[in-house]
Amino acid sequence: MFKFTQYFSTKHTPQSEAIPGSKQVQNSAGGYSFELDDWKRFDRFLILGADGGTYYVSERKLTIDNAEIVVKLLASDGVKVVDRIVAVSQSGRAPKNDAAIFALAMAAKLGDEATRRAAYAAMPKVCRIGTHLMHFAEYAQAFGGWGRGMRKAVAGWFNDKPAVELAHQLIKYQARDGWSNRDLLRLAHPRAASPEHDRLFSWVTKGELTAGVVASDESYALLENVEALKKAESLQRAVKIVRDAKLPREAVPTQWLTEAAMWDALLPHMPMTAMLRNVATMTRVGLLRSGSNATKLVTAQLRDGARLRKARVHPLGVLAALNTYRKGRGVKGNGTWEPVAAVIDALDDAFYKSFGAVTPSGKRMLLALDVSGSMTTGTVAGIAGLTPREASAAMALVTAATEREHEFIGFSAASGGYGGQWGGGEPGITRLAISPRQRLDDVVKTIEKVPMGGTDCALPMIWAQKQRIDVDTFVVYTDNETWAGAVHPAQALRDYRNARGIPAKLVVVGMTSTGFSIADPTDAGMLDVVGFDTSTPAVIADF
Ligand code: CA
Repeated sequence: MFKFTQYFSTKHTPQSEAIPGSKQVQNSAGGYSFELDDWKRFDRFLILGADGGTYYVSERKLTIDNAEIVVKLLASDGVKVVDRIVAVSQSGRAPKNDAAIFALAMAAKLGDEATRRAAYAAMPKVCRIGTHLMHFAEYAQAFGGWGRGMRKAVAGWFNDKPAVELAHQLIKYQARDGWSNRDLLRLAHPRAASPEHDRLFSWVTKGELTAGVVASDESYALLENVEALKKAESLQRAVKIVRDAKLPREAVPTQWLTEAAMWDALLPHMPMTAMLRNVATMTRVGLLRSGSNATKLVTAQLRDGARLRKARVHPLGVLAALNTYRKGRGVKGNGTWEPVAAVIDALDDAFYKSFGAVTPSGKRMLLALDVSGSMTTGTVAGIAGLTPREASAAMALVTAATEREHEFIGFSAASGGYGGQWGGGEPGITRLAISPRQRLDDVVKTIEKVPMGGTDCALPMIWAQKQRIDVDTFVVYTDNETWAGAVHPAQALRDYRNARGIPAKLVVVGMTSTGFSIADPTDAGMLDVVGFDTSTPAVIADF
């Protein structure tokens, strides 16, 4: 008998070839993967962005590829694109809002009439703070000029906010990335909605208070305090103004920002996101010390889950803060501090709490981390020092914290690359002794030490079958650039189901915004989710 099926079978196909009859495409590593549906790819883009690119694809190409998907989706259903942007942005599912703002600017400029209207109407929901608005203006400029729709939307952004809220925005976000409130007001040229708004606009465009006005309203009084703070000659006076008027850090002249007393004045009304960004500074100036009152206040707030979620604090923002803080020195090399253990513990706690509550599924889960070489390059959502490898470990810990029956493995490839006998005697597999009871920074250190190798995303299923391990759900954290295996991951899962008699499922947690997946879209037992989407742990538990 000639073994035709040795070369052509839908059950076992090398990853260097497409499964016959499937719509697989070549991935960036040269292997074959399934192609992600455009809407799902759009979700990946909205959540992960394209900053930093991937191991295989430059930031430039990844951005262009994703923008082309947006163009395609705008042509098919522009209003749905806008709805999706709003849903992801408003719920705070993404670590950064930039991709949502970029896509919204595309919709506003490149969409049909109904899409443009929807995009401008949605603008204040997506551009919630001054920085967002400036980013929107910058992105929109790449797709066209300041038409009527744009002017009206920007004017509305300023006019529709109550004056006090607008004053806070104008004080906090005066200029970003080559744009200022003055530029925006000059281009949009709004007619002020009220005398209060008029005075705020005048302060922005002229750079000074309107002469002769007696502080008759709260918003104007805020501006007066900002101006008084600029002129304050003693620390004592500056501190008093900040404390009484609850002014933000952005209003404080830099000479006072090295003073513990100033940070002490800022702390009681400091928003959560600012607190996260400034834990290192507050430690450096001596405000956060072991056992100090300020430390107690900061750690209590960091451990407050409801507060974290209300402020849309993203777990990745917490992880980035923790990663920098524990090192005791800034990424840019400016300044060192002695990390306070209580703050590190609180940041660790904040990471889990910022995901919100997840109801455990009680299923047996194999949490499989792709530790191949490609996972160590690039950054997740543009956060310095955070590679897909570290990010995926952190992500997996959230599921481990809720699911009792879990096991961790790291996998690369058994052959066809740099695979080898690491840990447990299994080629390309390392059993990972990590646990959510460990501190996140220790886990990251453990993950950093695991040897790298080629990529075979089928290994977790093959390994579990060989080891006779019962698994209900395989959760694979990967960039989906698989190439080194003798069978495809989807085929290995079907083999596993048959061999163990368990209708096992596969959840693929995509850690890069490419269009590839190892999950077979025609198999209802396989699911794609996005790494560092705050809803992902709940989706995994529900699947
Ligand atoms: Ca790889």
